[in-house]
Amino acid sequence: MTDAPATRLAAFLEQLEDARRARPVTLVVITKRHPASLVRELAAAGHRDFGENRHPESRDKALETADLGLTWHFVGQLQRNKARQVARYADVLHSIDSAALVDALEGGDGERPVRDALVQVNLTDDPGRGGVAPDGLDALAERVAASEALRLRGVMAVAPLDEEPGRAFERLARLAERVRAIEPAADWISAGMSADWREAIEHGATHLRIGTAITGNRPAGG
Ligand SMILES: *Cc1c(COP(=O)(O)O)cnc(C)c1O
Repeated sequence: MTDAPATRLAAFLEQLEDARRARPVTLVVITKRHPASLVRELAAAGHRDFGENRHPESRDKALETADLGLTWHFVGQLQRNKARQVARYADVLHSIDSAALVDALEGGDGERPVRDALVQVNLTDDPGRGGVAPDGLDALAERVAASEALRLRGVMAVAPLDEEPGRAFERLARLAERVRAIEPAADWISAGMSADWREAIEHGATHLRIGTAITGNRPAGG
């Protein structure tokens, strides 16, 4: 495990090859807690899609690498009072979880580009975890589809800690169908992290969010 991140990226992409023969899969490398120099290193190896979970760390990294023309994905909880700031630099918002958040994204100066958006679904029974409960999914997806600030692209979820990830991702695949019934073009499924991406792929994931398997362990703290 002393390989350079670019070496681990290449190894990961090789493992993804089979899945990509069946359909396009976007690999989002999650660089949270790592310095912008790591983003540069992976960009130099040809990678374009990166993800972060916390503002303003995410903004600083996006600005520090602005010359590279990368695609930034915001995958953490979006606070209403910071959402419009995040939408200035994040190309894809993976964590839309309430109508109030959509309201917040629509307010203000109207100078932001329309952003790709995924509705995050909570696959656990714990309302404290991120995402909208499955029974609120349709209403929220309709709200996003009607928004001029966002383009509804699909769903996102994190597998529960206490359940076999394959079972949870199977549920997510069915929820994704419901969203496609609302907006047929919304066919993205953001699911799968370092430990469970194979199960996510089996159940239709189109976007993997991979941190440690490529970046190595995150620096402590922060
Ligand atoms: C950190 C994070 C990831 C990546 O997790 P790894 O286990 O390091 O691959 C994926 N999704 C979200 C929402 C995250 O916060």
